[in-house]
Amino acid sequence: MDESDHSARIRSHRLAEPVYAENFSDSHPPLSHNQALVESDRCYFCFAAPCIQACPTQIDIPSFIRKIATGNLKGAAHDILQQNIMGAVCARVCPTEVLCEGACVRNHQDHKPVTIGALQRHATDHVLDGNIQLFSRAPETGRRVAVIGGGPAGLSCAHRLAMLGHQVTVFEARTKLGGLNEYGVAAYKVTNAIAQREVEYLLQIGGIEVLLGQRLGRDLALPQLRRDYDAVFLAVGLGGVNALGVDEQQLSGVLDAIGYIEKLRQTRHLSDLPVGRSVVVIGGGMTAIDIASQTKRLGAEDVTIVYRRGPASMGASAKEQTWAQTSGVRIKHWARPMRVIGQGGALSAVEFEYTRADERGGIIGTGDRFTLPADMLFKAIGQVLVSDGLDSGGELLELNGTRIAVDDERKTSLDGVWAGGDCVAGGKDLTVAAVEDGKQAAHSIDRALRTVRK
Ligand SMILES: Cc1cc2nc3c(=O)[nH]c(=O)nc-3n(C[C@H](O)[C@H](O)[C@H](O)COP(=O)(O)OP(=O)(O)OC[C@H]3O[C@@H](n4cnc5c(N)ncnc54)[C@H](O)[C@@H]3O)c2cc1C
Ligand code: SF4
Repeated sequence: MDESDHSARIRSHRLAEPVYAENFSDSHPPLSHNQALVESDRCYFCFAAPCIQACPTQIDIPSFIRKIATGNLKGAAHDILQQNIMGAVCARVCPTEVLCEGACVRNHQDHKPVTIGALQRHATDHVLDGNIQLFSRAPETGRRVAVIGGGPAGLSCAHRLAMLGHQVTVFEARTKLGGLNEYGVAAYKVTNAIAQREVEYLLQIGGIEVLLGQRLGRDLALPQLRRDYDAVFLAVGLGGVNALGVDEQQLSGVLDAIGYIEKLRQTRHLSDLPVGRSVVVIGGGMTAIDIASQTKRLGAEDVTIVYRRGPASMGASAKEQTWAQTSGVRIKHWARPMRVIGQGGALSAVEFEYTRADERGGIIGTGDRFTLPADMLFKAIGQVLVSDGLDSGGELLELNGTRIAVDDERKTSLDGVWAGGDCVAGGKDLTVAAVEDGKQAAHSIDRALRTVRK
C-alpha cells in the first residue's frame, strides 16, 4: 500500500449527510414537562440524602427535585447553580451512574435511580433558555484576581469571585472560553452550543474581564501577575499528551485523540472530517471511549479500543463502555501495543501483545502477539501538565507527582497563588470536580483578601 492508497482509506463524506446529524444528535434528549413531574415524584426526599454526598459540588438534590415537583423551576435552578454554576453542562456530562444517581436509594429497590442529571437539565435549561439571572454581585471590594485558563475550573472561580465583589480577569490561551466543555467532551453530549451558552450566561454577572489568546508562559509571566493582582488562580488543565511508549516512526495516521476531538468539536460540517476505514484506539478512559464512538459515528467501518487491563480497571464507567459497544465499537482487553507497522510512510497495522496481571498488581506480557489492521491509530492514554510559565522567578511551584500540589483550600506552595481543576494533583478529572475546585478556591481567596489589608 503506498501513501495515496492510505489517504484514500482516510476520507471524509463517508456517510449520507442526514446520517451525521442523526449520529451526533443529543445522546440524552431533554425531559418533557410531564416526564419531569413524573420523575420528580419518584424521589423519596431522603433525610441526609446520599446523592448529595456523592455530588462533588454538594447540590441539595432532594430540595431542587421537590421544587420541580411543585412547578418552581427557577427555585430548582437556584439550588443547583448556587452550588455549581456550570450545572447545565454537568447535567449532560457528569457520569451520574458513579456519582449522584449511583448513590440513589432507589437502586436498592427497583434498580432504577431517580434520573437526577435529566432533572437538573430540565431546571437549568429553563433559566438558560429564558436568560433568567439568579445571582448578583456584592459591593465592589476593590480587589483584583487573575484567573489563568477559562475552562470549568477557571470560570467557576471567576463567577464566584465576581459574585463576592472582586474584579476578575480571565486570561485564556485559546480563542474561545469553556475549556474541554467546548473542545473536548463528546459532541453528542453537548449539542446546541450549550457550552458557549453557559459561558455567556455566567459572564452576565459582570465584573469579569476576558482576555483571549493570552497564554501563560508566552504572553504572560507568573511573577508579573503576582505583582499586578491581589491573587492568582491557575486553572490551565492538562495541555500535553502522554507518549505511546513504542516507536511511532512518524507514520501518517498515528494521531493524538485530543487533537482530533478538538477538530471534531470545532468543525462546521462533520462530513468534512476525514476518518479511516479501520481505526484502533489505545487507552481505557473517557477520551478512548469518545474518540472510538465518534469515529465510528463518522463512518469508520471497524473501530477497536485496546486496553492493557480488564474492564473493571478502565477509567471509563461501565455505562460508557456499553455506550461505545452499542455505537459499534469493539473493546479488546488485556493487550498492549508493541509496534506500529507502516508502508510507504503510512500506518497499516498495529501489533499487540496479550497481557496479564502479575502477583504485585502490575501487568506483564504473555508473549502471545496479534496484529490489527489500522489506517488510523489514536493515542488516548492520558494528558499531562504543561509546566511552561509555572516557574515564578526562582520561587518553586511545588508539584505532587506531575501535577500542581495544593492543600484543601486549593492553595499552592506560592503565596497568593491558588490552583484547581485537572492541573492539580488528587482530582477526579471530571467537569464537576473542576467546578468545585474553582468554587472552593474562590472562597479561600475571598477569605484571604478580606483578612489582608491593602
Ligand atoms: C476527551 C475528553 C472527554 C471528556 N469527557 C468528560 C465527560 O463526559 N464528563 C466529565 O465530567 N468530564 C469529562 N472530561 C474531563 C473534563 O473535561 C475535565 O475534567 C475538565 O474540563 C477540567 O476542567 P479544567 O478547567 O481543569 O481544564 P480544561 O477544561 O482543560 O480548561 C483549561 C483551560 O486553560 C486554558 N489554558 C491552558 N494552558 C494555558 C496557559 N498556559 N495560559 C492560559 N490559558 C491556558 C485552556 O485553553 C483551557 O481553556 C473529558 C476530558 C476529555 C479530555
Ligand atoms: S452536578 Fe453532576 S453529580 Fe452533581 S447532582 Fe448534578 S449531575 Fe449529579
